[in-house]
Amino acid sequence: MFKRIIKYSNKHFSLFKNLSSITDRRLKPRIDTIKIVTAVICMQLSNLGSLNSLFQALASGKYPSVSTIARVADSMDLDDIRAVGTSIYKKARKQKMLKSYCGRWIGIIDGHEVITSEYCKCSHCKKRKLKDKDGRIKYQYYHSFTAFILAGPDFSFTLDIEPILPGEGEITSACRLIERVCKNYPKAFEVVIGDGLYLKGNIFKLLESHHKKAIAVLKEERRQLFEEANNLSLMVEPKTYKQGKTSYRVWDHEIEDCWDGYGKKVRVIVSEETTTKRSHVCDKVGWEEKTEIVNWMWVTNLFEDFSGDLKNTVKVCHVRWQIENKCFNETVNTWNADHIYRHSKNAIIAFLLLLFTCVNIFNIFHARNIKDRTIKSRVFLIEKIKTEFLAIKRPLPLIPVPI
Ligand SMILES: [Zn+2]
Repeated sequence: MFKRIIKYSNKHFSLFKNLSSITDRRLKPRIDTIKIVTAVICMQLSNLGSLNSLFQALASGKYPSVSTIARVADSMDLDDIRAVGTSIYKKARKQKMLKSYCGRWIGIIDGHEVITSEYCKCSHCKKRKLKDKDGRIKYQYYHSFTAFILAGPDFSFTLDIEPILPGEGEITSACRLIERVCKNYPKAFEVVIGDGLYLKGNIFKLLESHHKKAIAVLKEERRQLFEEANNLSLMVEPKTYKQGKTSYRVWDHEIEDCWDGYGKKVRVIVSEETTTKRSHVCDKVGWEEKTEIVNWMWVTNLFEDFSGDLKNTVKVCHVRWQIENKCFNETVNTWNADHIYRHSKNAIIAFLLLLFTCVNIFNIFHARNIKDRTIKSRVFLIEKIKTEFLAIKRPLPLIPVPI
């Protein structure tokens, strides 16, 4: 399976030809950057989880050492790696390998942390004060980044990430990321969704300047918009419908003059979602039904509905969870995305960008190339790739590395 995914990556995305354009800032390199990048891609596609596992798998000798890979990652050109991602995206979109969500191309943005440790730190680490159970103060060091993904019905596609530097907030990093994504992927998406943090006038205006619409969660009760939407909801009847086990009561308001930061009319969607779940009664025989009510509010400058139906708009507003579930949780739990391969500002982002390149290709490969019904889950497919990689005595010569 390892050989098959390598072959697939080259056939459809010219992966290793594109990777050969990645450079680094070494003055007199003895080993070409492509050889280092190839070793990293093999490690991540096979989900080995650490550079040491890679070195053990590669039977030493002609291959770059752990310290060389780590050192080169410190100065690898991040924009070169991003260009590989852009090329893969263009080919995937042209070959209709990606699917839109509810008829529209939707971007999602959010921040994520990579925890280092109490002791391991660098000059670009962010830190926070924690108290242990005995009341002693200790510091936790971490790096964080914002990520931008494209939502899809089956899988998401990560477009880019941007570090959140010490002393700056998520929104500052998000603005840089949005600017770059709009430049590198101008037609990839029409709408961008973020959590409550992204309900900022500058974010809405920035996206508007690139002809994109924005959706953000509204959860601050003190905001004038929140109060106004609640007042309006008392005056009009909601639209009601049922989807699966959840009943929806949805209000759709257009509100003007309640958000000074943006200064224009916005739409506030309020959704009250009631789900009845059946569960075992604790310590007794039998079942009980539990009803859970969740209230959601979103603000948007998109006034038309997705595919002409408010139901679809609510569904799209909820798709923000893809960045938590499919991007962060899945890559952390399945692909070791939180592992620090090399602790430096550049290397952390370089390894993550290369990982997301692998995960994007893997998701397309899994969805389109795997017809074998015995492969039921992605985890099983990853294991098959890893097993084959470990069984090949000299895996790197299999890869057509352009010199
Ligand atoms: Zn650090």
